[in-house]
Amino acid sequence: MSALLPALADPSDRPALRFGAASLTYGELARAAGALAARVRGEERVAVWATPTAHTVVGVVGALLAGVAVVPLNPRTGERELAHILGDSAPGAVLAEPGAELSAGLAGTPRIEVELGGPAGPPVAEPDDPEATALVVYTSGTTGPPKGVLLSRRAVAASLDALAEAWSWTADDVLVHALPLFHVHGLVLGVLGPLRRGGEVRHLGAFSVEGVARELGDGGGTMLFGVPTMYHRVADALGGDASLAAALGGARLLVSGSAALPVHDHRRIAAATGRTVVERYGMTETLMITSVLPGGEPRPGTVGVPLAGVELRLVDEDGSVLPEFDGETVGEVQVRGRNLFSGYLGRPDATAAAFDGDWFRTGDMAVREADGTVRLVGRKATDLIKSGGYKIGAGEIENALLDHPGVREAAVTGEPDPDLGERIVAWVVPEDAEKPPAESELADHVARLLAPHKRPRVVRYLDALPRNDMGKVLKKALPDAR
Ligand code: ATP
Ligand code: MG
Repeated sequence: MSALLPALADPSDRPALRFGAASLTYGELARAAGALAARVRGEERVAVWATPTAHTVVGVVGALLAGVAVVPLNPRTGERELAHILGDSAPGAVLAEPGAELSAGLAGTPRIEVELGGPAGPPVAEPDDPEATALVVYTSGTTGPPKGVLLSRRAVAASLDALAEAWSWTADDVLVHALPLFHVHGLVLGVLGPLRRGGEVRHLGAFSVEGVARELGDGGGTMLFGVPTMYHRVADALGGDASLAAALGGARLLVSGSAALPVHDHRRIAAATGRTVVERYGMTETLMITSVLPGGEPRPGTVGVPLAGVELRLVDEDGSVLPEFDGETVGEVQVRGRNLFSGYLGRPDATAAAFDGDWFRTGDMAVREADGTVRLVGRKATDLIKSGGYKIGAGEIENALLDHPGVREAAVTGEPDPDLGERIVAWVVPEDAEKPPAESELADHVARLLAPHKRPRVVRYLDALPRNDMGKVLKKALPDAR
């Protein structure tokens, strides 16, 4: 295989990254990563204390150059989860920026300080084996304990190239980034993506609407990758902020993923900026699966079509492949292609269970429109409600609830019901806690927009929904949820 990061083989003085005050050209990145590669060579795996800093990028790229698999660690992971990840992945060292305070759980792991400058080492060429593990990325843990996903250089390259094709992503793009660097979204798409293209990544450190407004448009940023909670905050701020609308309107591409972007936020952003947020769908195990094609007709609530090289099918409960795209019949999304992971670290049982032959079972449920567009309706484990003989996806009801002016956030679950099998429960964060919309009003609103059998039977009011660091709703953490 050719190099995963060809721009580092013959580095130029073009900008590669900027994280706050630290910026590196490709030449500087190649030198710093080369020096680090010399210090980790021979290890099987190293962990990276993945703060949103240039040090994390140098650590990851240095290990890649040395052919050492990287385990990115969330610096905010609790002791128990960290112990699970360290026990599972047994990294030979942890790479961190000088002075970073590491969790006590890492006391037994040798520490290597990542330097951004320093003397150049001998030039380093990437190893050749496309099947070698580049990254061990832990899933978000939305439905259970996080699993270590082995991602080969082949899978990473395939997925990034498919995205480049879909999004016309080039070396001239400057990505504005505000996501954490320990998941696929922030690390593979957000860091390795620009570096593979030879373009630039600028990280805000932490997300802020002001930072986005500053870096996009006149700031030179051409693309923004975000999760729905970020776009929600952007949409909230757009009302009174003409410069923010101009900055977003000036960007080439606004992308959302990791969870569904509510239709309501899609609409508010399009109305204020003239730009449609491009939604894409992927997983740690598969990297990216589908994307809406920029410039195509926007259809909020859909995640577009399979990317180049990705085969996708929907399979019903009996294991039969759905024969046609009717926009109605729900099936599990299964995928295959060069973008797939190599297995779960140390979990051959879980790996085997996740495949049907060479098709990976995503656990996500979807329908396909006549033109092949995929519309996700939720996860098999938490979002498919069987009520009164119907199979109902939670996502659609959540979108309908969010369309009500009195609703700020919404999650929908099913709970046992002697009559219906399961009844639909809506968890609602009202706009105004003093005056929440009445249960019957919300139920009627959903029935009117969707169908009578989709009306919530129970509405429960909360101050906030439980979410993880990617803004995904943790349905299992809802009080009394199944
Ligand atoms: P775990 O596997 O540990 O339970 P997780 O599935 O949330 O956690 P990730 O691999 O980070 O971990 O997330 C992949 C999931 O995110 C997908 O299976 C899908 O359910 C959801 N997802 C990703 N993009 C979108 C999107 N655009 N719309 C809706 N859901 C999405
Ligand atoms: Mg998952």
